[in-house]
Amino acid sequence: PGEQFVPDPSKKTLVILGTGWGSVALLKNLDTENYNVIHRSIMEPVRAILRHKKGAANYYEAEATSVDTERKVITVVDNSEVKGATSTTEIPYDMLVVGVGAENATFGIPGVREHSCFLKEIGDAQRIRKKIMDCVETAALRGQSDEEMNRLMHMVVVGGGPTGVEFAGELQDFFEEDIKKLVPGISPRFKVTLIEALPNVLPSFSKQLIDYTENTLREEKIEIMTKTMVKKVTDNTVEAEISKPDGTKERVEIPYGLLVWATGNAVRPIVKDMMSRIPAQKDSRRGLAVNEYLVVQGARDVWAIGDCAVAGYAPTAQTESLETRIHDLSSKMNLQAGNSAADANEIEQLEKQLRRIKDVKPFRYSHQGSLAYIGSEKAVADVSWWNGNLATGGSMTYLFWRSAYLSMCFSTRNRVLVILDWLKSKAFGRDISRE
Ligand code: NAD
Repeated sequence: PGEQFVPDPSKKTLVILGTGWGSVALLKNLDTENYNVIHRSIMEPVRAILRHKKGAANYYEAEATSVDTERKVITVVDNSEVKGATSTTEIPYDMLVVGVGAENATFGIPGVREHSCFLKEIGDAQRIRKKIMDCVETAALRGQSDEEMNRLMHMVVVGGGPTGVEFAGELQDFFEEDIKKLVPGISPRFKVTLIEALPNVLPSFSKQLIDYTENTLREEKIEIMTKTMVKKVTDNTVEAEISKPDGTKERVEIPYGLLVWATGNAVRPIVKDMMSRIPAQKDSRRGLAVNEYLVVQGARDVWAIGDCAVAGYAPTAQTESLETRIHDLSSKMNLQAGNSAADANEIEQLEKQLRRIKDVKPFRYSHQGSLAYIGSEKAVADVSWWNGNLATGGSMTYLFWRSAYLSMCFSTRNRVLVILDWLKSKAFGRDISRE
């Protein structure tokens, strides 16, 4: 209806769900002249990319709630604050790429969703900045009790993976470089605590780098509580269970001003929904099982990329199943001796598909290593180069970390903006406004 997106009937309609790294990288590299592209997401800059694309490319800002892989349609809901007369609609596709990422894992721990801040989307970062400054200003209010000042200035980060470690380091930097100067009277009360259920932080890094990280964080005055599992969260306390060396457990209550939850990824509802509708996905747990061409197992013309996809299936599965199908059909035709033109057509189609698949190189994940910022302009890196391994930490690694982040920007424009932001906050301090 209306003067909306009119797909070119001679081209296939490709729908991409999501605007994370995977989806945007795909969109950037895609020759949009060959498809009708429809993109959905909850972030804006994608419109800027589409503006420069030739061919019919369209963008809807809405949440995809279900995918019917039989009818090849997606149901989307506009759940923004501004509502129009239409808020739910269906989008048909010929080909679908699912790149919706993951959501925050909370393991159903009571109070987490209501009281903590996450670290996934832009809104999360804005919320955190506002909350930090609100805590500082409330702590500085005349007449605030000692106990309340200490609570408000206590910033708790749960989850000692790369997200939690990097955030704790950044937060301490923010305090040292900016906040401390602004509120000298109460600044000694500022404290960052990092809580991790396992015996150490950054479990995927080597022992040497774990020790380096924990020592550096402690030097930065970040308190690290390991073997501490958060069990419940209220609006101003975290209740956790500490496993003691003698095997006993102790329950503690930790008052906080800001709580940031970073305990990893969980499967998004739309991905769960797809997994439950596709029988071949019934044994998959962490996301859509894909083959080496990123084709979603058990669905036609659907691909998955990024955190919502789980690779690890037999590398030749798809070609083999096509070959078997062609073989079955031709045996059937032989039996019926030239009987079915439809079957002959199907064989031709399948053979074409097979040739195409054999032409395309399979996707192989190559682990380049792990890299994390740990605060005070230091970073740790576990990188595999050629045949060797490099485990390094410190200020040079920090420069490497910065360059790695720059290389992940999709455009020169963004790269320049990021460098300018870094220089700006170095020269004039971080932005502490709350809007
Ligand atoms: P993660 O899964 O790596 O770590 C989460 C941590 O939370 C785990 O160590 C877990 O033991 C702990 N945890 C879970 N429940 C807990 C509880 N109730 N109480 C206390 N601790 C609890 O998650 P992440 O750090 O968000 O990382 C997710 C993915 O993103 C990873 O693949 C990571 O490598 C990647 N990542 C990479 C970088 C980087 O390269 N610098 C930065 C951020 C994220």
